[in-house]
Amino acid sequence: MLLRDKTAVISGAASKRGIGRATAQRFVAEGARVAILDIDAAAAREAAAELGAGHIGVSCNVADKASCQAAIDEVLAAFGQIDILINNAGITQPVKFMEISPADWDRIQAVNLDGVLFLSQAVVPHMRSRKAGSIACMSSVSAQRGGGIFGGPHYSAAKAGVLGLAKAMARELGPDGIRVNCVTPGLIATDITGGKLTDELKAKILEGIPLGRLGAAEDVAGIYAFLASDLSAYVTGAVIDVNGGMLIH
Ligand code: NAD
Repeated sequence: MLLRDKTAVISGAASKRGIGRATAQRFVAEGARVAILDIDAAAAREAAAELGAGHIGVSCNVADKASCQAAIDEVLAAFGQIDILINNAGITQPVKFMEISPADWDRIQAVNLDGVLFLSQAVVPHMRSRKAGSIACMSSVSAQRGGGIFGGPHYSAAKAGVLGLAKAMARELGPDGIRVNCVTPGLIATDITGGKLTDELKAKILEGIPLGRLGAAEDVAGIYAFLASDLSAYVTGAVIDVNGGMLIH
């Protein structure tokens, strides 16, 4: 087991078909104790209960710094230590450039980008005190190719911001024994598209994927497990594509 005796915090891990939930399941299978953080507190607790005894669900709005601190304090009180942080929570919206309202811009940046900052700031003092930790952050192929998959330009901008933030964190936190990496998935079959992914758009996207299928949440969970584990002990500041070959660069 890759994560025996490790404790992990995963944000945005309550939704049933989501990447965070699949990651929680994979981490438990690898021996970890998991805290599921989500804005949907009831769903977080239910998801944690489904993982089995010892795991916890905690209410957290990653866009709110105080909420992140309170959630991490709650996890530390329960687990005593945090070895792994997966900054996975995110939201998207399929709009064109001129349709982006100031309010939409703000909420897309707040959850996808501010959330990575606030939750990491809440956990880093603890990881620093132990001189150990692995943080993995969710970006997207949208950041690398300028969108054109599902999310709008504001989503591409936020996910590109995650890449810059995570690389700078890797540089600054490396001397403290903390590794920081990113994943950049292509289109993964989850509920984030909210029923707005038409069959026509899906077919068009599939034409551009050499492996000939959409990604599964488990495909990303496996990469998060690699980044969380000691298999990647000498990897920091890296960006791992999980896109079926949709973007080869
Ligand atoms: P999902 O909608 O199934 O999961 C997102 C989770 O985040 C949900 O449980 C939701 O309740 C939670 N959440 C939303 N706002 C939150 C907030 N403010 N604070 C805490 N939790 C919050 O979607 P998913 O596809 O599993 O997405 C997970 C991550 O992967 C997101 O960051 C998304 O942008 C990213 N991503 C998804 C795809 C894809 O194709 N599905 C591709 C690239 C990147």
